[in-house]
Amino acid sequence: MPKINVLPREIAELIAAGEVVERPASVIKEMLENAIDAKADKITVEIQRGGITYMRVTDNGCGISHDDVPLAFLRHATSKIKDGVDLDCIATLGFRGEALAAVSSVARVEMLTKTADSEFGTHYIIEGGKQLLYDEAGCPDGTTVIVRDIFYNTPARMKFLKKDVSEANAVSSVVDRIALSHPEISFKFIRDGKQLLSTSGDGELKSVVYSVLGRDFSQSLISVSYEFEHISVEGLTCKPVACRPTRNNQFVFLNGRLVRSGTVTAAAEQAYKNSAMIGKFPGFVLNITVPFDAVDVNVHPAKTEVRFSDEHRIFSAVYGAVKNALNTGDSRPAVSISKHTFNPFERMTTEQFRQQNIDEAVTAAERIYKQLPEIKKESFINKAPQGEMRLNDFEKPVFYGKTADDGAHTQEEPKRAAATAEPQKEDTGLKNTVSEEIPVTLIGEAFGTYIIVQKENSIFLIDKHAAHERILFNKLKAEHTPQSQAMLTPVRVTLEKREYDAVINNTDMLLKAGFEVEDFGNGSVIVRAVPPTLTGENIQLLIEEIAGSISDTSSVNIAREDNLFHTVACKAAIKAGSDTGDLEMLNLAKRVLSSDDIMYCPHGRPVAFEIKRRELEKQFGRIQ
Ligand code: ADP
Ligand code: MG
Repeated sequence: MPKINVLPREIAELIAAGEVVERPASVIKEMLENAIDAKADKITVEIQRGGITYMRVTDNGCGISHDDVPLAFLRHATSKIKDGVDLDCIATLGFRGEALAAVSSVARVEMLTKTADSEFGTHYIIEGGKQLLYDEAGCPDGTTVIVRDIFYNTPARMKFLKKDVSEANAVSSVVDRIALSHPEISFKFIRDGKQLLSTSGDGELKSVVYSVLGRDFSQSLISVSYEFEHISVEGLTCKPVACRPTRNNQFVFLNGRLVRSGTVTAAAEQAYKNSAMIGKFPGFVLNITVPFDAVDVNVHPAKTEVRFSDEHRIFSAVYGAVKNALNTGDSRPAVSISKHTFNPFERMTTEQFRQQNIDEAVTAAERIYKQLPEIKKESFINKAPQGEMRLNDFEKPVFYGKTADDGAHTQEEPKRAAATAEPQKEDTGLKNTVSEEIPVTLIGEAFGTYIIVQKENSIFLIDKHAAHERILFNKLKAEHTPQSQAMLTPVRVTLEKREYDAVINNTDMLLKAGFEVEDFGNGSVIVRAVPPTLTGENIQLLIEEIAGSISDTSSVNIAREDNLFHTVACKAAIKAGSDTGDLEMLNLAKRVLSSDDIMYCPHGRPVAFEIKRRELEKQFGRIQ
């Protein structure tokens, strides 16, 4: 029988440390939470080499008294909890009393700290769990913790660290998130000597969002303010047009703490259904306040994933909040004609409209929540874009007729040759007639945007940009040899690191969309050919946009390809407000009406509305 050994303290600490300290970012998170618990209102984070060699967190909080400093580094030593009863009511951030112990067992830690009422501060050094210095020192009120050479004594863990840049990015995102959750605290973040973030601490969420997420994003925000069955949802959410290919700009705070919740993400994203482009995700900062008994925060050791005792209620609250914001914000026209309730003579007041939308939102939330399979609610966060399922329904090529196998490809050949011979921006591909003759009469066009046609016993209003975009998108998806037009002079485009990586890792995919792009090194690429419909575009902007649409490495290939095709289709489609010839309009209408799968544009907006003759006759009192 093997003998049972009690592990020496250092080894036990090392094992325990593994749960808390995974990488520099997890150290920074713990230190920041301690500083916040200490009521600091100015906090500076500095790192070098991604935090691997050096991390410093300085705060102006309450400090630790001289006698308590060594205790703070003991496992299960905490000033924040006294007995089991406290566990039910976790008002402070840290409560396990093991962060300092864990960090000091896998790194060299130095602390300078002073409370306001003591004359001297304390200088303390501990390395690999061993105390090396415990002295008095002159220092300002507050605490500075310096962590050097993380994992210097555990080479096996060291190996799991990523490149400096990745570690630095992870730290940066921790600081961003924490700064966003505390507008009342002024944060500074310095990376390799460069100050990357500085928030004012003026208490305004808007100003933190500005500092953290940048000007562009902050300008596209709509306020959220909503209450539903004791759950309050406050914050900011982006306009549908500002949705991005990644979920990086999604922040959820629960009772002041940053959390992850599949339910909240799902609810917010559902609210954008039909208004945001499929494969793009909304950005938002949502502060949710719920009664303490409605949450179970202690499910995950890293304390970010939360469970709600009533997920359904949270879903409805968040969905209602975001939907309401989108409806009342300036992101949608003030009147909506719905296929079913079309009534041109009835005018709603803004208040009625608002209320109707809220009512709809709540019923829709109920319905959607019931339909969402359990598994999806749980693991929503890391899943591929939701639109995927719907997109598959649209995959059939429709550009030249109804189905893929009615000779579409043979018909396509002559046109492709022609397009290459005389590339023109005006080549919308809509001058050719549709193979199948269907009885459609063009009535006209309204506002340079909506084509009005009559077909049998109905009138259709068709959004020409949305319709054309969907047609081009379906075509791109169906095509195997894309159209591509060589540029007279290849264009060199310089990109940001992420964009550059996205482009050079996806040159095959780009080729499928008609872009011939080559790596030119040093963050730049050479663009040799683009789809013929896009030769007139600003190539730099175009490639940047395209890079953005494929830069989400977490999403699956097919989703990235869809994003790319959406972007290309959108750019190439005829614009609302532009001049379109009668023949083109008629052909566009015929294509829309001859295929069942052109119902929504790739952004999820409807392509056409139908007004039935019967409806009109009812309105005019011709029939009852
Ligand atoms: P926990 O935060 O779970 O209590 P830690 O190991 O993170 O455990 O910290 C141990 C104790 O050290 C805390 O309870 C707190 O009393 C003290 N402490 C740590 N960091 C700070 C700080 N920046 N300012 C004031 N006190 C601190
Ligand atoms: Mg702590």
